[in-house]
Amino acid sequence: MTTYLLERALLPDGWRDEVEVTVEDGRFVEVRDPFTRFDPQALADNLGIHRSAGESVRVPGLTIPGLANTHSHAFHRALRGRTQAGQGTFWTWREQMYAVAERLDPDGYLELATATFQEMVAAGITCVGEFHYLHHGRDGTPYTDPNEMGAVLVEAARVAGLRITVLDTLYLSSGFGAAPRGAQVRYADGSALAWAERVSALVAPEHAIVAGALHSVRTLPKDPAETLNLLAGWAADRPFHVHLSEQVAENEGALAAYGLTPTRLLAAHGLLGPMTTAVHATHLCDRDIAELGSASAFVSFCPTTERDLGDGVGPSRRLADAGARLTLGSDSNAVIDLFEEMRAVELDERLVTQRRGHWRSADLIEAATTTGHASLGWPDAGAIAVGQRADLVTLDTTTPRTAGTGADEHTVVFAAGAGDVVSTMIEGRLIFRHDDREEIGRALSRAIGKVWAE
Ligand SMILES: [Zn+2]
Repeated sequence: MTTYLLERALLPDGWRDEVEVTVEDGRFVEVRDPFTRFDPQALADNLGIHRSAGESVRVPGLTIPGLANTHSHAFHRALRGRTQAGQGTFWTWREQMYAVAERLDPDGYLELATATFQEMVAAGITCVGEFHYLHHGRDGTPYTDPNEMGAVLVEAARVAGLRITVLDTLYLSSGFGAAPRGAQVRYADGSALAWAERVSALVAPEHAIVAGALHSVRTLPKDPAETLNLLAGWAADRPFHVHLSEQVAENEGALAAYGLTPTRLLAAHGLLGPMTTAVHATHLCDRDIAELGSASAFVSFCPTTERDLGDGVGPSRRLADAGARLTLGSDSNAVIDLFEEMRAVELDERLVTQRRGHWRSADLIEAATTTGHASLGWPDAGAIAVGQRADLVTLDTTTPRTAGTGADEHTVVFAAGAGDVVSTMIEGRLIFRHDDREEIGRALSRAIGKVWAE
């Protein structure tokens, strides 16, 4: 049992100074702010509780709950700085991405994913949703353990010290029934049933959850009903994620192949529900927005990736007003900084509408913490509260970026960056301190160097 005295912390009902939190077995067992400490009733309640000689570890700075990164492809980290200068579209970028996908083997993937997840922890991320489709060997043959690559991701998260939800992704077609080609043969299981059988055998230790995903409606067979019904059964009681309407071409293809928008196709087969996360949700019509809202679905916005790929800006405010729940992802990992993703949601809306003030800072922090964790199947994480998993992310408020910004939610959303994180605690363990950055940089350099040297 350890007690920490947080100089300033974001509790569910707002900021408090001099907050004492006690952690036992990875969870908060007590959270005492100055008000409750001097509240007679709270004092009476506390009388029976043994306090460990009054010693606590002081944590200076601004402390927030752990951040959840709801959409990541770890191996895309090897593309950072190498594809941004290119011309073309999402589709030409995809060819460069496939070049990395073709090279990776389990050893190289473990090294790359571990270093990438370490970079996430250094950015205050305590849980990652890894959208995993790189399943099989280079020619499409399954590994001896057909879940070897999924197990690699689980192990990488263990070494890096964060929780993971493996969103094992169904990929059957190169586009509306066409056979997978090139690197895509590594993604495909042949049938939904074979996918479900394989994923059911992937073991999840304590820091992991295994859940399902559909790459996109593009990757469904020509007659998708059977596949979608099977997925709906899977999605009933666990997280289900899907890339949705990231591209206009995806909408056009779905209308031509199925006579429905991607959103309505999923809705028609019972795949939109409170455990569904629609990733991107960029090009939606009014009815799509209403469907996602009435289902209370999550949406995962990934603004730094969407801007890098020239995808467009999704209707975040309208989705939220309709009832959908916003979360945030680093997706291609061209940037790993959920502070930047938070402010991008608001700033992108400003560019589209030519007006300011669509999102409250507190709501963007909620998207990056509690809502994000819930969409990954961890409803007991993302808040500094009794019973929650003990994640604490502390920001330095004296850096050139953060100094003089008020040390509140607007500092978090509009001033801070990943580089201002000075420590990350995950389930009571101090996983990252600011002087670990140098070693993480070296690990990334080594891992990515090997990918491109092959
Ligand atoms: Zn993605």
